[in-house]
Amino acid sequence: EDTVVSIRDLHVEFPTVIGRVRALNGVSYDVPRGKVLGIVGESGCGKSVTARAIMQIIEKPGKITGGEILFRPGRVERTAGKRARGTGTEAPANGNGDAKLVDQHDIREDIPELARSGIIDLTTLDPHGPQMRAIRGQEIAMIFQEPMTSLNPVYTVGDQIREAILLHQTKDKDEADRRAVDMLRRVGMPNPPRVAKSYPHQLSGGMRQRAMIAMALSCIPTLLIADEPTTALDVTTEAQILELMRELQAEFGMSIMFITHSMGVVAQLCDEVVVMYLGRVVERASVDDLFYNPKHPYTISLLRSIPRIGVSRHQPLEVIKGSVPDPYSTVTGCPFHPRCPSVMPGLCDTVMPLETAVEGTGHTARCHLYPGSTPADVSSAATAE
Ligand code: SF4
Ligand code: MG
Repeated sequence: EDTVVSIRDLHVEFPTVIGRVRALNGVSYDVPRGKVLGIVGESGCGKSVTARAIMQIIEKPGKITGGEILFRPGRVERTAGKRARGTGTEAPANGNGDAKLVDQHDIREDIPELARSGIIDLTTLDPHGPQMRAIRGQEIAMIFQEPMTSLNPVYTVGDQIREAILLHQTKDKDEADRRAVDMLRRVGMPNPPRVAKSYPHQLSGGMRQRAMIAMALSCIPTLLIADEPTTALDVTTEAQILELMRELQAEFGMSIMFITHSMGVVAQLCDEVVVMYLGRVVERASVDDLFYNPKHPYTISLLRSIPRIGVSRHQPLEVIKGSVPDPYSTVTGCPFHPRCPSVMPGLCDTVMPLETAVEGTGHTARCHLYPGSTPADVSSAATAE
């Protein structure tokens, strides 16, 4: 399958005064090109750390201590003529039939290794160097829960979006202005021309959030990483933003990695899903397999904890018995065993399960309930007894 990013055995550690915290403990997964991949799990499971590792913006003193992040640039080619189904968005922004929507600088000119092989291990690039800077923004953009992380307080919202468009889409200034206002309208801003002339501090929190999303989408990155960007928004705005992401993803052939703790968001937006627990991937599946045929006991608990109507969908997933172990403690065996309703004593508390293929295309789980998960020497020793 065509993947835009392949994460291979990634380890990230945070040294602290009382010991090392292993934030990622051998994480491997693929981000499929032109699709939406959901990353789910409770806070502290490593969802955001993985995203920050891809962007090379891990907070100090954290660092990547092993593994690879293989990046293959390229969007699925689309033209304006083949627009995705519209949702009240009238004409294509550029209005000229099937012209290329994006006229982008070729990143391969900046990175000889990419020009040679079409692939680059991002962990080999200097996080502060020009190559990684070129990748951030143009190739991989990230949006956060806190909009002021990416908005500049001294420029108007319109100027910031226009800059992104001039850099990544067109050189025509009037066209860039039109597209900036159009993008603000598409993220559901009331009175887009007026918002374009406003400074970030003049907007409400929800409007700033939408401005940041408009700016990130205007870069039309190869990969958009969204880290719980709609968690602070009301349900209607959230639905609007998710629909917009779907639309632009289809229109521009972007790949999206959407980090969330909401299974509802996963159901609404994603094609494939990665479930993380304590710095490891515990299950990978298509969205259908995950909802109709979940395998890992942790995934099953997450699905049971989907809030019912009337309960805030952003409540923490407390329904699962027990709490996530303290990251400083070392859990032996399966990290989920202290909370698992299916725990097998003598096995789950001593032996770390391996990732194994289960029923369904590309469906994997890391759990001793599935034979391939138990290392061969352990299972043969058990049969010999
Ligand atoms: Fe539960 Fe054991 Fe599977 Fe871990 S390996 S999820 S403890 S059944
Ligand atoms: Mg987070």
